[in-house]
Amino acid sequence: MDSAVQAAGSQFELNEDQRAIQEMAEAFAAERVAPNALEWDRERHFPADVIRETGPLGLGGIYIRDDVGGSALGRLDAVLIFEALSRACPAFSSFISIHNMAASMIDRFGSDEQRQRILPKLTSMEWLASYCLTEPGSGSDAAALKTKAERSGGNGSDYVLNGAKQFISGAGDSDVYVVMARTGAEGPKGISTFVVPKDAPGLSFGANEKKMGWHMQSTRQVIFEDCKVPAENLLSSEGAGFGIAMAGLDGGRLNIAACSLGGAQSALDKALAYASERKAFGKTIDQFQALQFKLADMETELQASRIFLYAAASKLDAKAHDASKWSAMAKRFVTDTGFRIANDALQLFGGYGYLHDYGVEKLVRDLRVHQILEGTNEIMRVIVARHMIGRQ
Ligand SMILES: Cc1cc2nc3c(=O)[nH]c(=O)nc-3n(C[C@H](O)[C@H](O)[C@H](O)COP(=O)(O)OP(=O)(O)OC[C@H]3O[C@@H](n4cnc5c(N)ncnc54)[C@H](O)[C@@H]3O)c2cc1C
Repeated sequence: MDSAVQAAGSQFELNEDQRAIQEMAEAFAAERVAPNALEWDRERHFPADVIRETGPLGLGGIYIRDDVGGSALGRLDAVLIFEALSRACPAFSSFISIHNMAASMIDRFGSDEQRQRILPKLTSMEWLASYCLTEPGSGSDAAALKTKAERSGGNGSDYVLNGAKQFISGAGDSDVYVVMARTGAEGPKGISTFVVPKDAPGLSFGANEKKMGWHMQSTRQVIFEDCKVPAENLLSSEGAGFGIAMAGLDGGRLNIAACSLGGAQSALDKALAYASERKAFGKTIDQFQALQFKLADMETELQASRIFLYAAASKLDAKAHDASKWSAMAKRFVTDTGFRIANDALQLFGGYGYLHDYGVEKLVRDLRVHQILEGTNEIMRVIVARHMIGRQ
């Protein structure tokens, strides 16, 4: 762990357990993720085997209760883990975040029978999970979703789903899909949440999208054509689904911000090392004051992001009344800052920054999408402003 991370850690007085968690995640990332990250990116390879290795480390159910194999850790603990993993690869870290978000929805809103049936397989990472909210016609306006779920079978023992989800991370690779679908009237109150297994009849997947970054994980449509799901896979009750989806997102937003933080730290570390070696006009480029100022700004903004994110996570841990606002503020601020720092690092590398082998252009590509998903950064501003003007 470097002094920058330690400095913010001491601000928040990370306890011994938290430091141990951080070190464990850093060690795993350095050994199993960092050496392979560029190749996974280049080959568009989904490293399911390495992802599953995080199960025995307790990363399959970071903030899930321990009776089903979860680690029962807090949100600040989770942020430390995602920050550490993303220093090796933000896309790897983000996939673990999405899996945890989907699993935690089952933990929080599932019945005891559902928790015992599904969660041990997710916390151990025997099964991987995806989160399915976005549709081709509705992203930011998620409550407008159209995928339908209708009761069928004897005594209404099944639901039949029809529709499609868009941009689903891990689609086709995951074993379980936590799906928001409409069981009632238009608007948020008509939405329910289902756990759909990969082998459900009528479930299929679109082609893997060709995208700018996050190459090591698939992004596909999830398609439901008379897809039959047992009624026992409905989470909570009909109509509760929008609340469940949004509850997952507060923590998800902190996680994705942590993925930006770790990626940006990695970019800054690389830039600092490169600037101390690269020569121009007879001296190393870190001797130019213009670049020193740039490095100073990057460090300042990174530390401000870290402290802000840790504060937001602590609010969620404390169930503070303004935790949702802080999650939205942190997501917006840290993902914007993280992208800018990675892009500045690329500039500092000159032409070499644009080459794949130096690993900086990958960070820029990976971090860009964090400004878009888990709610776009415009939607984060909508949430923050609503809290400020008293509409929430
Ligand atoms: C690589 C990738 C992976 C993803 N993974 C998942 C996943 O696993 N599961 C999942 O459910 N979704 C996933 N998403 C979807 C992502 O959450 C959506 O793309 C995002 O919520 C935006 O929705 P949209 O693309 O439909 O954009 P739109 O909602 O159409 O927005 C278009 C533009 O309008 C702006 N805008 C919209 N409404 C407002 C407003 N009220 N005020 C101001 N500006 C506004 C937006 O900020 C944006 O700039 C993923 C997306 C990507 C790219």
